[in-house]
Amino acid sequence: MSEERSLNFLEEIVEGDLSTGKHTSIHTRFPPEPNGYLHIGHAKSICLNFGLADKYGGKTNLRFDDTNPVTEETEYVESIKQDVRWLGFDWEEEHFASDYFDQIYAFAINLIQKGLAYVDDMSAEEIAANKGTPTEAGKESPARNRSIEDNMTLFTAMKDGKYNDGEKVLRAKIDMASPNMHMRDPIMYRIKKTSHHRTGDKWCIYPMYDFAHGQSDSIENITHSICTLEFEVHKPLYNWYIEQLGIFASHQFEFARLNLTYTVMSKRKLLQLVQEKLVDGWDDPRMPTISGLRRRGYTSASIRNFCDRIGVQRRENIIDVGLLEFFIREDLNKIASRRMVVMDPIRLIITNYPENQTEILRSENNPEEENNGGYRELPFGRELWIEAEDFQETPHKKWFRLAPEQKVRLKSAYIVTCTGFKKDENGKVTEVYCEYIPESKSGQDSSGIHVKGTIHWVSCEHACDAEVRLYDRLFNVENPSDEEGDFKTYINPTSLQIITQAKTEPVLLEAQPENHFQFIRKGYFCIDSKYSTPEKLVFNRTVTLKDTWAKESNR
Ligand code: ATP
Ligand code: MG
Repeated sequence: MSEERSLNFLEEIVEGDLSTGKHTSIHTRFPPEPNGYLHIGHAKSICLNFGLADKYGGKTNLRFDDTNPVTEETEYVESIKQDVRWLGFDWEEEHFASDYFDQIYAFAINLIQKGLAYVDDMSAEEIAANKGTPTEAGKESPARNRSIEDNMTLFTAMKDGKYNDGEKVLRAKIDMASPNMHMRDPIMYRIKKTSHHRTGDKWCIYPMYDFAHGQSDSIENITHSICTLEFEVHKPLYNWYIEQLGIFASHQFEFARLNLTYTVMSKRKLLQLVQEKLVDGWDDPRMPTISGLRRRGYTSASIRNFCDRIGVQRRENIIDVGLLEFFIREDLNKIASRRMVVMDPIRLIITNYPENQTEILRSENNPEEENNGGYRELPFGRELWIEAEDFQETPHKKWFRLAPEQKVRLKSAYIVTCTGFKKDENGKVTEVYCEYIPESKSGQDSSGIHVKGTIHWVSCEHACDAEVRLYDRLFNVENPSDEEGDFKTYINPTSLQIITQAKTEPVLLEAQPENHFQFIRKGYFCIDSKYSTPEKLVFNRTVTLKDTWAKESNR
């Protein structure tokens, strides 16, 4: 955004480091674990890391933090790259923490030889049980004073597969009485006899996050390692490893993660929704994933603008999803082509319009664009589809749409006067009759008649059939993760409404997944990239025209 704003705390740090000469240029990284698809929270981290480097002429790496073979997959790696690119960023170098396994192993040997790491026979559970409490020191393991030679032999045996999962771990020898629990001889390596998505069966020991992340930062000469607040308590350990190893001193800085109302934002929970088929995959348009937002019709610009606007804080908070919707509306209003689509069609018959006549009218694509974004052709004829809700048999006083003897303008066409209607045996109106006023054609109206209402329509003869999917909040409480019990009990059962009988104007047959539309009076829509075909068009509603939710919940 062009508007001036004061520096955020990370920009202040970077400017400080550059002005004191601590760094001559900055190097950041975005370090996703490839165990799921990226979500809007990751977008915040991406915009932050790439944004800082862009602003200060630095570089940003993409690093896959793939040290846990159990949950990681190549499918996720590919989706992450696609999403970062789609968001509009290009990384300097692409790395995998698993590429550093040899180096990280050598770091471990280095610490063993300095007497700063030891092999323990306790299981992860026993270690946790002996860790003490924040106010009470932990118990030292009997293995803590093993000789360097024994540790070397045992660690090599761990690596060579002589032990099974859980039988041995490598721990740092720091301080079992430290007030920081993370400093109480943390685990550095554990045994996992699981194939890794990249290193296959080469390794059966894998470094823990804390003994991989800072090391990877250091190997890549990352100057500013930015992560979310929950890692603040890990920072002394991050620094301890780097200092003891005497390697490039990367520094960690923390910011508050993004939370959004009416959704969940942890990959573990999102994975549950996918696996239990409560949504239609990671890219379900109701998901807060980048791929879901893309399929829903969000633009990358709207997501970047949103991230820019929320900025970075040091305190946890939850952002109203309405703000994200504000940014997509703002963008789509500028770029979306206007189209007419009737969702709940009834037939309007213009009895004084010649049978078998078709007129090609013109309508502007987008009044917000220069030259109205060009014009499209709009066939008009004797029979039109209009919305059932645009007709009332006995209208109330302020009804400006169709009703017996009332006049209305058909958008980009003529003024018509309602002359009658027909009902079926259930009392449902099926046809409305009217007469048009030939002199009232839009753009060349000489009728002198002024009407208050304008409705949209589609020519019956030329209409395309379409399915339209309307989405609502995926959860019906603001913060499902904060509620009692399983977060899935708070799923909104009506978050997807499928309209099967919509009628669209014919140009929509040419719609492509990257096109954005405003269906006049209905909202913003796009083609569903997964299900739409030329034989059967499927549209997703990106967002309503106005914030209907805020109004309803205040009622
Ligand atoms: P999740 O809890 O959703 O699995 P994670 O933190 O485990 O998230 P990673 O793949 O490890 O996911 O995250 C990659 C980067 O994105 C990290 O630097 C992390 O701090 C950041 N990140 C993840 N979630 C958010 C969020 N909600 N807001 C801001 N940054 C986030
Ligand atoms: Mg993680």
